[in-house]
Amino acid sequence: MPRLRPGRDGEPLPAGVEVFRLALGLMVESKDFQQTGRVPRTVFDLSSGDKASSTPRLSVYASDLTRIAEAWAFLDLSAKYGYSVHISTDQVRTVGAEMAGHCRGHQLVVEWEAKKIQDPQTGMEVLDERPAAKGHAGIAGLSEADYSSAARKNIKRKLAAFAEVRPLPAVSPVFVSRRGRRYHRRGCKAGRASILMCRESARARGITPCRSCNPD
Ligand SMILES: [Zn+2]
Repeated sequence: MPRLRPGRDGEPLPAGVEVFRLALGLMVESKDFQQTGRVPRTVFDLSSGDKASSTPRLSVYASDLTRIAEAWAFLDLSAKYGYSVHISTDQVRTVGAEMAGHCRGHQLVVEWEAKKIQDPQTGMEVLDERPAAKGHAGIAGLSEADYSSAARKNIKRKLAAFAEVRPLPAVSPVFVSRRGRRYHRRGCKAGRASILMCRESARARGITPCRSCNPD
């Protein structure tokens, strides 16, 4: 299979591609999940930020382009996120085909989406240039304009039935200075450490541990 390359914003992802998103621990660890292993449909709920977008999409990442730990670093490796939820473009397409007759807006499909972040200085949305952002995509068709509330519930239930949930790997965060040669413990004076990254990603990029704070 040819190597996956990111497409233009709004372009559907090819068939047979796995995407994932991160889910809150408390969302997944329902009683029902613990007893039956059934993934709750709420893991496919749009956030208020997703809903406010001009094309509301549920954020996901292509597994071939963005690693789980990298996506987690975008969320500051917050301990609230306990799981990754995996689904393939084919499975989303299957649900979309089953629900096609109910569609009144955008069809259910996984599309590439340029990842944006808020510029801390201006508050404006700017393109996220971090390499791990290139796998960013979104599941379109989950907003109020696309399907009725009952149909959306049904869609999310069907997606959840396909989805596979895995606990997040244990990664430890390190801080990388702007020039990106060394990684540090939080607050190390030797580097103006500012970019949060998981140790594994830092090492994979050839970034070495600081000799002053000994982060390893
Ligand atoms: Zn250091």
